[in-house]
Amino acid sequence: MANYDLLLLPGDGIGPEVMAEVEGVAGWLNAQTQNSFNVDIDLVGGAAIDAQGVPVSDATIEKADKADATILGAVGGPKWDGVDFEVRPEAGLLRLRKDLELFANLRPAICFPALADASSLKREHVEGLDIMIVRELTGGTYFGEPKEITDLPDGQKRAVDTTLYTTSEIERIVRVACDLARKRGKKIHSADKHNVMKTGVLWHEVASRIFKDEYSDLECHHILADNCAMQLVRDPKQFDVLVTDNLFGDMLSDEAAMMTGSLGMLPSASLGAEMNGKRKALYEPVHGTAPDIAGKSLANPIATIASFAMALRYTFNMGEAADMVDQAIANVLDAGLRTGDIMQEGKRQVGTVEMGAAIRAEMDRLAA
Ligand code: NAD
Repeated sequence: MANYDLLLLPGDGIGPEVMAEVEGVAGWLNAQTQNSFNVDIDLVGGAAIDAQGVPVSDATIEKADKADATILGAVGGPKWDGVDFEVRPEAGLLRLRKDLELFANLRPAICFPALADASSLKREHVEGLDIMIVRELTGGTYFGEPKEITDLPDGQKRAVDTTLYTTSEIERIVRVACDLARKRGKKIHSADKHNVMKTGVLWHEVASRIFKDEYSDLECHHILADNCAMQLVRDPKQFDVLVTDNLFGDMLSDEAAMMTGSLGMLPSASLGAEMNGKRKALYEPVHGTAPDIAGKSLANPIATIASFAMALRYTFNMGEAADMVDQAIANVLDAGLRTGDIMQEGKRQVGTVEMGAAIRAEMDRLAA
């Protein structure tokens, strides 16, 4: 019997609605398995601004630091559009990622057969697609200094972003990706621009060394990031795990995501360094707060439930339970249940609560 501390941060908009369904799945696991989740729920984003004046409090950061895993809904919305940049809802999420030093962003792109026709690519290219994109999240172009816009004497402005990586930053993200590849299809691609960027040259060198010295059991490839973007739409199933830097990962993970149908289906994980066999971890759906449908029980809870399934797999080492949640989602889709965002002709449209309940009922059936 294992006891785990699970922190839920529902956030704003549809966040609380989809998070309620994660609570349902955690409750199901408490009742049906040997594991026990102590669930704590706290504020982040606009909800925290309203109640505490900050987008995330020190106390909440401390809870996330101590919890075995944190699941976040989404933050933001028109209500907080006018607040100061420094204390906007998104600053809460950025602070969580920064304070917990979550450097590895895992974005799976999985295409459920039942949804293959919702993809912008032909069914044969995406049916059964299962790619894991591993994006470096705390370095590179988005964080390098100097990062500024200055005035030039001739009246123009000059803007600079600095792309910066150290050996150890590259080593740790490549290792995370290789460890994942070992548990999956044993195939990895590293994408960089070593033909034109110095950071690409270092990335390529370090990845090559790690592939050769530590992961000779894997099929390892290098690919130029621009070619990678092309190959993703030409033949996406050639990829298993794809590791890349912050900037390219931002683009390539969104590109891969669109092959799977809807934003409401996409989970993600952000992981920190391993210490005493554990990693800090934040799991969250890729989508935002969807103010247009908030409060109407129209939101698709699958991305957030699938994010919890990632927590089961990568933090709690409960691979069987994670498989069961993923299978329950696939079966419910096969049975024709759809939330509005993935609705297709001839299928049955359900709301957030009904979709969550159907997934738990399917878990009952799978566990029987
Ligand atoms: P969004 O993801 O909230 O919504 C985009 C579209 O997708 C909307 O039509 C919405 O109804 C739909 N959608 C999103 N998630 C859905 C779900 N689970 N089920 C059904 N439909 C879903 O993006 P946006 O409209 O650009 O942003 C809205 C707010 O969310 C903004 O304040 C933005 O800053 C914030 N945001 C937060 C995060 C985050 O917290 N990680 C990410 C993106 C956007």
